[in-house]
Amino acid sequence: MHDLIIIGAGPAGLTAALYAGRFKLDTLVFEKMSAGGQILLSPEIENYPGFPEGISTFELMNKFKQQVEGLGLKIDDQEVLEIAEQGGSYQVRTQAGNFEARSVVVASGAQAKRLGVKGEDKFIGRGVSYCGTCDGPLFKDRNVVVIGGGDRAVEDALFLTGYARTVYLVHRRDAFRAAQVLVIKAQKNPKIKFVLDSVVEEIEGESKVGSVRVKNVKSQQSSKISCQGVFIFVGIAPNTGFVKNLLETDEFGFIITDQAMRASKDGIFACGDCVSKSLYQVVNACGEGAVAVDSAHKYLLKL
Ligand code: NAP
Repeated sequence: MHDLIIIGAGPAGLTAALYAGRFKLDTLVFEKMSAGGQILLSPEIENYPGFPEGISTFELMNKFKQQVEGLGLKIDDQEVLEIAEQGGSYQVRTQAGNFEARSVVVASGAQAKRLGVKGEDKFIGRGVSYCGTCDGPLFKDRNVVVIGGGDRAVEDALFLTGYARTVYLVHRRDAFRAAQVLVIKAQKNPKIKFVLDSVVEEIEGESKVGSVRVKNVKSQQSSKISCQGVFIFVGIAPNTGFVKNLLETDEFGFIITDQAMRASKDGIFACGDCVSKSLYQVVNACGEGAVAVDSAHKYLLKL
């Protein structure tokens, strides 16, 4: 029986692991992909304090990982399939077997939401992508369309100008929820063309993406943008399927917690992008990871 199992090793999970290591809790950390989480889909982070020039997300997450491993914790590459209550403890089921702990921190993060338009599924991997850092280099001197008006869309549009000939930024409104500094940078970049008040109706092509049909929601006029790549950034959906029968979530599946990051079951805590909250940034994910493990520690002391 372990003290704690941390599920997920993004910024929240790794910070939770750092605090667990410093409390000397007997801890397991499970991660289904690779340590670092979805922030690795952005090339650079500009709003993590202490790095006025920005820092590569890979470098930052590597430092997080090193700090955790320096405390003797190991990040185990395993997907968690289920958490089950077992008397006063929890059994965590992974592909490799069952593990028992008195407390659990869920830091399983989120993933890109699908846009849900015709052609999206058909062209995934054949022009449609959810990660500029991963797929941008494939579009050297090509035209690409970026969809969305949040941080991810504007950040990735800027990143893609390093490769693409023209980046069309298609957004359904004329105001952005992305940080204003990013929007100003994008407006100043001659390679980015703003296609505002517009929604994508269909992604078209033969065997690969060839164009995108967009409709201006004010004029109701449709037009075609000839492009080889389509990058979709229309928000995130939480990775919480494995707790949906155990923990209280909001209507979108994000886990509901109190201020001490306690979920709806005693001994289970949650933090980071899988939690229902108002701000989804690395900086507060880290704070929540620390709070979650502080709460888990207090819970364990009481047991
Ligand atoms: P987001 O901030 O939720 O923005 C989603 C964008 O997609 C919005 O502009 C939204 O339009 C648009 N959208 C949503 N559904 C749409 C639809 N069906 N059709 C067309 N457009 C649609 O999501 P994100 O930019 O993907 O980023 C995900 C989260 O990660 C955000 O919370 C973001 O702040 C966070 N993030 C953090 C960092 C960091 O910590 N440094 C870096 C990158 C991202 P409306 O504005 O009209 O709703």
